[in-house]
Amino acid sequence: MKVTLLAGGTGGAKLAHGFQQVLAHGELTVIVNVADDTELHGLRVSPDVDTVLYTLAGLANAETGWGVSGDTWTALHMLGRYGEPTWFRVGDADLATHVRREHLLAGGASLTDATQSMAEALGVPSHILPATDDPVRTILHTDAGELEFQDYFVRLRQEPEVHSVRFDGIDGARPTDEVRIALDSAELIVIAPSNPIVSVEPILALPGMRQAIRSAGQRGTRRLAISPIIAGAALKGPADRMLASLGHESSALGVARMYAGLIDAFVIDEADAELAPSVEQLGMEAVVLRTVMRRDADRAALALALLPA
Ligand code: GDP
Repeated sequence: MKVTLLAGGTGGAKLAHGFQQVLAHGELTVIVNVADDTELHGLRVSPDVDTVLYTLAGLANAETGWGVSGDTWTALHMLGRYGEPTWFRVGDADLATHVRREHLLAGGASLTDATQSMAEALGVPSHILPATDDPVRTILHTDAGELEFQDYFVRLRQEPEVHSVRFDGIDGARPTDEVRIALDSAELIVIAPSNPIVSVEPILALPGMRQAIRSAGQRGTRRLAISPIIAGAALKGPADRMLASLGHESSALGVARMYAGLIDAFVIDEADAELAPSVEQLGMEAVVLRTVMRRDADRAALALALLPA
């Protein structure tokens, strides 16, 4: 069963790991958001790609949800002595990832090629695809002014209220050929329980992306999304507050409305079972499952439940 998953970092990586546990080698492709990417210490950093890469390679730090398990901080300390900013915490092993990526990019590789090479080196049995090789950057208009994504997310700890979001570069960006093939050849397309505004939307807003998902649906490919909002709250991060401040309902139903017309079924948590009839009124099937992925087994169980019987 060929599964193509659209994902951000935390929620996306956990479900990707669930699918990787239950699918055969090479059957999972993860299309990952790159609009959170930034440049640090002269190096390209792709936080969502790295979270998915580390999680699928079995290297992720489960406590923080980002970075490499057991990482050390010698390089960051030294960078600080040189006057480099240290609010974006890059561990020593994580830094090696950024150095390797930059080296490959400087040699002419695309971000897609660089990611593939690194995933292979780390023994990842799935395909990890940046949604685009073109530069797209999320800019947030907040009550602390206009902010780049990592400035908002890491430096200011998601505290400012977000009033609007734009994706600089999106109109001129294209999904890669690899992304298009992954959508065209998928037997199941899944939108992960990722932040719908800043993780999933910058993937869906790429020119041609929504149409590619609609065409897959017309060919009979089943398309699912899983709610990142449970009982009105995000398990982690600012998705719930962002939905509210941007005029959406901060609930699984609010997220379902954002995906209406694009998916066949929306998965809500058992805690939200009473929302099922309202989800179905949007013209999609409502599926009620346990969607909280604490341990590896929870991830695998959710992935298995999403596969056709
Ligand atoms: P980010 O790029 O690191 O913000 O990660 P994502 O956008 O992929 O994921 C953030 C979202 O994942 C948040 O809205 C969380 O509520 C959601 N999330 C995290 N863990 C889980 C989980 O175990 N189950 C579900 N349903 N959602 C989760």
